[in-house]
Amino acid sequence: MPELPEVETVMRGLEPAMVGQKIAFVNKRRPDLRVPFPKNIKSVLEGARVLNMTRRAKYILIHTDQSHVLVIHLGMSGRILIETNRDYKPQKHDHIILTMADKTQIIYNDPRRFGMIFFVKNGEFEIHKAFKDMGPEPLGNDFNAPVLQARLKGKTTSIKQALLDQRVVVGLGNIYACEALYEAGISPQAAAGSISLARLEVLTQKIKNVLKRAIDAGGSSLRDYRQASGELGYFQHSFLVYDREGQVCKICASKKPIQRIVQSGRSTFFCSTCQKR
Ligand SMILES: [Zn+2]
Repeated sequence: MPELPEVETVMRGLEPAMVGQKIAFVNKRRPDLRVPFPKNIKSVLEGARVLNMTRRAKYILIHTDQSHVLVIHLGMSGRILIETNRDYKPQKHDHIILTMADKTQIIYNDPRRFGMIFFVKNGEFEIHKAFKDMGPEPLGNDFNAPVLQARLKGKTTSIKQALLDQRVVVGLGNIYACEALYEAGISPQAAAGSISLARLEVLTQKIKNVLKRAIDAGGSSLRDYRQASGELGYFQHSFLVYDREGQVCKICASKKPIQRIVQSGRSTFFCSTCQKR
């Protein structure tokens, strides 16, 4: 599943192919993904000029000179291909294709169709159901230890579960929650409301660091991908703790290997020597 760093990488890859250009043609090859495509998607987008792109949580927001913002979520298996070959023949699972004024095709492909493409009217993000209850962006300046402490106050759920709650912080995801807690030396089972400000200080820094490193890695893999196939969306990471059950801890190298537990149906990987409640 694409996590925040992949989504950020996809957005950065799309920018040079779309920003400043008009969308010439919208080819809708089915009526929907997880939700129906907007009925007015052709009339709004054809002729619209792309002004800029932003990301909120795992949503890519494409701002145009029209009154609607195009929102893309990659779901479980969505990918975007930038195709400059004018003779490209649509493939299976290519669900929507935007042809830019310079004939570059932006292809949304999604075998499982859990992705979403919809409009939000300019200025209505604050009241839109997908966005209104979202917590702060983990990489933003308004995400810091005092903010996190306020959002965790009184919570008896585990810190791991709390970090996956989009009202606490958005877009962190299972992998990066595991990695950040490991690097911060905080047990994933610690009660969320019980962690000191000093330790949350470390945790917020580690959250930002793991995400930034992944985005940097995505940037380099993006260059490789663009040379190879034009496909955006997936790359290999190396993780310190995630998916390393039974292996030696890279920090303490103690005899106790990395453990896996299940919290709210999601695997958590941690080192019981390094990570304390
Ligand atoms: Zn360890």
